[in-house]
Amino acid sequence: MIPRLKPIIGLQEFIAALHLPRSGDLEKFETAFAQLVGQRHAVAFPYGRTGLLFLLRALGLEGQEIICPAYTCVVVPHAIVYSGNFPVFIDCERGGFNMDLDLAEQAINEKTGAIIATSLFGYPVDLDKLDQIRNRHPKVYIIQDCAHSFSAEWKGRPVQREGIAALFGFNISKILTSVFGGMITTDNEKLYKKMRQLCKQELNSASWQKSFRRFLYFVAVYPTFYEPVYSLINLMERLGLLNEFVQYYSAGKINMPKDYLENMSRIEARVGMVNVKRYSEIISNRQSAAAYYFENMDKFKGILQNLNSSCSASELRGPNSLLLPPRVDGSTYSHFVILVSNREMWLQRGIKNGVQFGWIIEYNIPEMPSYGRHKPEEFPIAAGYSRAAVNLPVWGGSGIAVKVVKVIPEML
Ligand SMILES: *Cc1c(COP(=O)(O)O)cnc(C)c1O
Repeated sequence: MIPRLKPIIGLQEFIAALHLPRSGDLEKFETAFAQLVGQRHAVAFPYGRTGLLFLLRALGLEGQEIICPAYTCVVVPHAIVYSGNFPVFIDCERGGFNMDLDLAEQAINEKTGAIIATSLFGYPVDLDKLDQIRNRHPKVYIIQDCAHSFSAEWKGRPVQREGIAALFGFNISKILTSVFGGMITTDNEKLYKKMRQLCKQELNSASWQKSFRRFLYFVAVYPTFYEPVYSLINLMERLGLLNEFVQYYSAGKINMPKDYLENMSRIEARVGMVNVKRYSEIISNRQSAAAYYFENMDKFKGILQNLNSSCSASELRGPNSLLLPPRVDGSTYSHFVILVSNREMWLQRGIKNGVQFGWIIEYNIPEMPSYGRHKPEEFPIAAGYSRAAVNLPVWGGSGIAVKVVKVIPEML
C-alpha cells in the first residue's frame, strides 16, 4: 500500500542516530537549520508546541488574546492556553486553507498580543495583507507557524522571515524530521537571548531514558513505511491498536506530552542535522507530485473546479464530487489536500486499491468541547474542510502520483 505520508530518511540518518553523542549536537542542528531558512538564530525544543509556549512567554505575553486559525493543528491553541493566554479562532479564507486575514484584523483589539499566521499545507500566507496588518497594528506580534510550509514563498518572499519569529515542527509527518522536536527561528537578538535564558531555567536536557525511547521509535519507524509492513500497520491503526502511538491529541482535553519540558535529545538533533541536507530533494518531490495531480486530475468526472476565491467545501455537490486545491506559486505542498463529499468511501476504496488516502486535520478546533463547543455554522469554511479533506501522497514525487491518479476513477 502507498502510505499517505513517509519521512524521507536513509542510511545516513540511521548511522547518525547510532553515533555516540557529542556535545554540541543540538547547536549544530540549530545552526544548520537557521542557515537553511535564512534566519540569524534557531532554538531547538522537544516539540514545536513547546517552542511556541516558550516564544509566547519570551515575548512577555500573558492574559492576552492570541489570534490563530480555527483550522490548524490543535497543539497550537494548547500551547497558547499553557502560556496563560487565550486563543481567538478565525475561520479560513474562501478558496484557500489559510486563515482569513481580513477576519483576523477585525478581531484585533487592545487585548490582542499576537497573530499566529499559518501557512497551512505549505500554502504561503498572504504577506501583502500581513504587511497591512503590521502597519496598522504595530504592537501586535506576528508569529509565523511554518510547521507545514518550511520556506514557502509569497511572491518570492520566504514567509518565515516576515514576523517576530517562526515555528517549525520535525515529527515524522513533517517535511523534515528529527524524529520529534521543533524549532523557533528569529532575527531578533533580544528575543533570542530571552528564549535561551528561559530554556536554561525551565527546560531539562533529555535523560538517557528519553534518548533511548527516541532511538527505539526511530528504529521502529525505519521499516514501518515499507509495504507490506505498512499494510499491516495500517490495519492495526484502523483497529485502534496503535492509538497510544499515533494519537497526538485527545478531543476533550488541553494537554501536553509528558516530556514537553525535556529537550530534544542529541539523537534527534543528529538525525535532523542529516535530514536537513535532503531539503531540496524533499521539496522538489512534493512540488512535482502536486504538479502531476493538478495536470492529470481535472479530467475526471465529478471534479468541480479548483477551489478558488469564491468557493469552499459547501460547493461540493452530489455524492461523488471533488474539489482540487488552489495552485499557488511558492507553495511547498507539505500536503496535497482535496475536498470530497464522501470521505469515508475514499478511505475504504483507497485501501482496497492500494493507496492510503489520509484524513488530515479532521476537526474544526472551536467545535471541540475544550474550546467552547462552537457550532459549525460559526466557522463554516473550517467546518466544511474538516469534514471533507483528504490527503493525497506527495512524498514520492510524480512517480507515486502517477500510481495514485490511476486509482482515482475507482473513487468516483
Ligand atoms: C505539527 C504542527 C505544529 C507543531 O507540532 P509539534 O507536534 O508540537 O511539533 C504546529 N503547527 C502546525 C500547523 C503543525 O502541523
